Amino acid sequence: MEKEQTLVLIKPDGVKRGLVGEIIRRLESRGLKIVALSMEWPTKEQIDKHYPKTRKWIEGLGKNTAKSYKEFNIPSTLLEDYGTDNLHEIGKKVREWLIEFIISGPIVKMVVQGLHAIKMVRKIVGPTVPAFAEVGTIRGDFSIDSPDLANIKRRAVHNLIHASGNKEEAEYEISHWFTKEELNSYSTIHEQFMTQERNQ
Ligand code: ADP
Repeated sequence: MEKEQTLVLIKPDGVKRGLVGEIIRRLESRGLKIVALSMEWPTKEQIDKHYPKTRKWIEGLGKNTAKSYKEFNIPSTLLEDYGTDNLHEIGKKVREWLIEFIISGPIVKMVVQGLHAIKMVRKIVGPTVPAFAEVGTIRGDFSIDSPDLANIKRRAVHNLIHASGNKEEAEYEISHWFTKEELNSYSTIHEQFMTQERNQ
């Protein structure tokens, strides 16, 4: 279980704001281990393949958009702003904005390993909407962005990081961004103490 791996992308806002070191520091200081790391300027195709294309996921983006219209009392309607109130169509639009945003600059991609790494990284990162993220999380400490502004400006929410949501996503995303040979195997001092048997 201490070998669980997850994929983390520092999005262009994180790179351009000089937060790469801070983000890595927060992951490492919690006791997680970086086993692969590099910077690249992603292509549209790479990001298109990274994010799911299932109806459920795309509709989820549409639902979140509709929710933020209600939550923030946005005066215009979805129909006025998107030309449709079909949640799948709206989700497709948000997915396009997301891709445009992530190809707008270089990203840092990494594989992070450790005990409950998938959940632990999400906890350190905080929830999707920075405006709702607790202080102490990366999104809560370094971004104030909110979908009411993002939706009106027709762009993705700038929330610094992508982190895999579950085991299946993590496995797929790691294999999408890295080859097996690029994943390093080593043990940290911290890990050696954590995995030591009693009386040793
Ligand atoms: P997370 O990145 O926290 O796993 P999702 O998978 O739901 O969140 O969404 C993917 C990304 O799409 C988010 O990180 C954010 O950048 C963007 N996004 C999500 N919902 C919206 C929205 N309603 N409006 C604009 N961008 C959004």
